This record gives sequence, structure tokens and C-alpha cells, in this order.
Amino acid sequence: MAQTMKAAVWHGKKDIRVEDVAVPAPPKADEVQIEVSYCGICGSDLHEYLAGPIFIPTAPHPLTGHSGKTILGHEFSGKVVAVGSAVTNVRVGDLIEHESHTDARVERESPGE
Ligand SMILES: [Zn+2]
Repeated sequence: MAQTMKAAVWHGKKDIRVEDVAVPAPPKADEVQIEVSYCGICGSDLHEYLAGPIFIPTAPHPLTGHSGKTILGHEFSGKVVAVGSAVTNVRVGDLIEHESHTDARVERESPGE
């Protein structure tokens, strides 16, 4: 049986639903998987709710191929639970905070290890 998690899913203007969704597949070589601890609601999320789609792609995104229903919440913190085979600067257990428009910050309990 597939594992699920709760997510706030944008379906359309004024239609956001908290749903059970599948836990993502293990990360690809250049990706990490993060267990979210805290997630904020950004002003852009509010605009997507009130008047979207604005940034949510309505045609396949050129990088991801994603369009349509979207899990909101791009400002969050959490813990790295898996890393891809090519990832060298982030480790399982690292604590992260993320803001998708700039970069990510990694904090280790024992810096420099
Ligand atoms: Zn934001």
C-alpha cells in the first residue's frame, strides 16, 4: 500500500482542498527529499486562491511538465530524509529552510562534518 500525506491542493480559483496525496518517489540523482516541518502561506498563494491560476501552469511547464492541480506551500522548513546519488552538499538529517525564489539554507547540528 502506498504511503500518503496531507497536502493543500489548489484545484482552481477559490478551490483549495486538503487531501491525502502519495508520498513522493525517492529522489532522482540530483534531488533531495524533505520532510516538511513547517510551511507558510505566501501572498502568492493567496493570489492563486483569489484569482488563480496566475503562476500555476495551465500548460505543461517546460522543465517539470507539470500543469493544473498544484500542491501549495513553497516557503517551508524541514529535514532531509533522502538524497540522490549525485548530491554532495546535502546529507540525510540536515535541517533546511527554503524560499523558492532565492535559494535554500542548510543547517547541520555538527557544522563542518
Ligand atoms: Zn512566496
